[in-house]
Amino acid sequence: AVPLVVAVSTSLAAGRGLLIRDRAGFERARKLDAVVFDKTGTLTAGRFGVQGVTRFGDLDEDELLRLAAGLESHSEHPIAQGIVKAAQEKGLQIPEATEFENLSGRGAKAEVEGRALRVVSPGYLREQAIAVDEDAVAQLREGGKTLVYVLEDERPLGAIGLADLIRDESREAIKRLQAMGIDCLMLTGDAEAVAKSVADELGLSEYFAEVLPDEKAKRIEAVQRGGRIVAMVGDGVNDAPALVQADLGIAIGAGTDVAVESADIVLVESDPRSVADVIELSRATYGKMI
Ligand code: ADP
Ligand code: MG
Repeated sequence: AVPLVVAVSTSLAAGRGLLIRDRAGFERARKLDAVVFDKTGTLTAGRFGVQGVTRFGDLDEDELLRLAAGLESHSEHPIAQGIVKAAQEKGLQIPEATEFENLSGRGAKAEVEGRALRVVSPGYLREQAIAVDEDAVAQLREGGKTLVYVLEDERPLGAIGLADLIRDESREAIKRLQAMGIDCLMLTGDAEAVAKSVADELGLSEYFAEVLPDEKAKRIEAVQRGGRIVAMVGDGVNDAPALVQADLGIAIGAGTDVAVESADIVLVESDPRSVADVIELSRATYGKMI
């Protein structure tokens, strides 16, 4: 039988929007040393707005946005949704795209109006040794914006700058966790400058940028080295292996099914402050000491 105190805490948890899928994980929460957060959709709202477009070639900015939107209308990524929305708001006619393919953690590609297009991360350009005029995008980058490049074959046509907002709840969540003596770290596939700006803004002790989907779990393992007990909080398909690797996997309720199914605890209200609630409740239920 379930001890009364545990039964009570389970219903308390439900009242705070926590779905406990694995009781052993909930019990481990009281011993956590560090919490690693995914950035996009977890600490930030995960809703990108297009802030600007810069062209390198002969296609104008609206043409670039229109073609990119054609490609991105096949992707579920929050960057893709931001690009499609911006094109729609400008009243651009979004073209058909064929042969769409995800470039995991790097972007996507498709055939649009006879062009072999790719919309990709700065890291992808470095991998492929494709050079762009850095001065031309300096302004687009300002304030820690996320940049993606539009390529036709190997040729950069332009860049799109997007911004996402840090959620107000994230500031409070980090402050509370730090006051409880827990290190807060961040993991993201996004570029170094974007990661740094979010980490600085939230006062995070450490962050890892440009982490490819298949590397996220390895990063958690590295944080665990030396016996540290680590939680991972994420929302995406690419967070699932890291949620499993962590001592405690916490999924954002509004996230993907794969993330939810890989987690020990689900934040039903998608509120990062609930992470501090989990730990408080675990400490209150099982005692702070081992
Ligand atoms: P995260 O979930 O941490 O934001 P992802 O692994 O989903 O990271 O993406 C990493 C990077 O890959 C993004 O910051 C972006 O540069 C690029 N990327 C991924 N998917 C797309 C897409 N559909 N369109 C444009 N860029 C993309
Ligand atoms: Mg995410």
